[in-house]
Amino acid sequence: MVEVHVKVRVCDKCKDVNRPVRSYTLTEGERVVKRDLCDEHAQPVEDLMVDDVSIPVQAPAVAAATKTAAKKAPAKKAPAKKATAGRKRGATKTLTVEEIKALRQPQA
Ligand SMILES: [Zn+2]
Repeated sequence: MVEVHVKVRVCDKCKDVNRPVRSYTLTEGERVVKRDLCDEHAQPVEDLMVDDVSIPVQAPAVAAATKTAAKKAPAKKAPAKKATAGRKRGATKTLTVEEIKALRQPQA
């Protein structure tokens, strides 16, 4: 007698072995939740993921905030930049727009 063990991933909701499942990883802060869901039970998640696409379109305010965040990014890195300070660049705080552009453009 042969015993065969087969591992099948099933939907976490309906546990239906005949339904193909997809794996989803949801994160919220430090929480990470993994779910295997069939098409039917993944629908709410899929809906949310579709909605997500509209976020950049809906809010110019977000774009402005992102721009601000991008400007602040070098300052935010400052604490971790002890190594950078060792590069003898002195004042890393004040970069002109031109300098930032120059840094961003690969000058190959
Ligand atoms: Zn299901």
